[in-house]
Amino acid sequence: MARIELKLAHSYARTVRSDADYALLPLDITFEDGGAYALLGPSGCGKTTMLNIISGLVTASHGTVHFDGEDRTHAPPQERNIAQVFQFPVIYDTMTVGENLAFPLRNREVPAAQIQERVGRIAEMLDLSAQLDQRAANLAADAKQKISLGRGLVRPDVSAVLFDEPLTVIDPHLKWELRRKLKQIHHELGMTLIYVTHDQVEAMTFADQVLVMARGRVVQQGTPADLFERPRHTFVGHFIGSPGMNLLPVEARDDGMLWLGGQRIGRPESLALPPGPLTLGIRPEYLRLTHDSEAGAVPATVVQVRHVGTSQLLGARIGERQVKLHLPADAEPPAEGDVVHLALIGPHTRYYRNEELVA
Ligand code: ATP
Repeated sequence: MARIELKLAHSYARTVRSDADYALLPLDITFEDGGAYALLGPSGCGKTTMLNIISGLVTASHGTVHFDGEDRTHAPPQERNIAQVFQFPVIYDTMTVGENLAFPLRNREVPAAQIQERVGRIAEMLDLSAQLDQRAANLAADAKQKISLGRGLVRPDVSAVLFDEPLTVIDPHLKWELRRKLKQIHHELGMTLIYVTHDQVEAMTFADQVLVMARGRVVQQGTPADLFERPRHTFVGHFIGSPGMNLLPVEARDDGMLWLGGQRIGRPESLALPPGPLTLGIRPEYLRLTHDSEAGAVPATVVQVRHVGTSQLLGARIGERQVKLHLPADAEPPAEGDVVHLALIGPHTRYYRNEELVA
């Protein structure tokens, strides 16, 4: 296993005129030895590019890649000692499940007894023990992908295992199980795992550290709880959560009072906000209904109430803006068209200027 340091930028274009020509803008990231990381972001944000720069399939146009302090920027993939699991199964149909799992070890002439021990262990972790002697050809797509995962994890001596959206072909129920299993495997094997996904649930279940990416930039790296509680960028607030953070344009006056449109909505306690325009962010989980008599209560018109299993999701309009909030599943919900009152300011409210969290 290795500590992997990236200090680089990457453009696929020969000539670079603006930031838009970069698939990855200048970044400085360290993946610690033995960590479980997820690269999370929408399509085109640069996740696969970063993964391929680590594995050596792509060479960064600017900057360096170090493994355990050694410069590996120009090392070809075979010299980097990386295992990679792709979106679709990469296995040999003519071999049995066991032979497929053993292949990366046989290739490196690992002694037979060690191969047997390691294949047995990995098969057990992935519930493949009963299928070891079965031909891979006849298996369903998800079983094949489990073999791919196993092949990625079977070598104990790799620098890191990289996963590029590995659960895409897996059916939803098994997906849930495999996410948990991968996390458990990480704890047992202590390998450096880097996992690319655009699915926040997948990232948050699997990783200890999530790197949220947008337009070639890592906008925040943190634990799943950090990303939920203290998004440092409005993009993270909105992207993480279901639904994401409510974001409203407000103005801080010189006296510290916040205004939303023509309405005073209160003064945040123990937080001195710089005067001027701000974005107020509050998650649907923390936005609450209040009485019209409470200071700063903001009137909103209910536009939708939806039961979402564990709670009810209420959509309400404040002027031109829509906000969402969760109500307990058993609460008596207001009706569509009702005017309710909302408390926007509380301990979980965050404030942003130019999309960045105001400290
Ligand atoms: P997805 O989830 O869709 O795979 P991603 O986050 O992995 O997206 P990348 O595939 O890394 O993003 O792409 C980042 C940017 O680089 C995109 O604008 C993409 O069009 C561009 N890009 C990726 N590969 C190449 C390539 N081989 N040549 C030119 N441009 C590329």
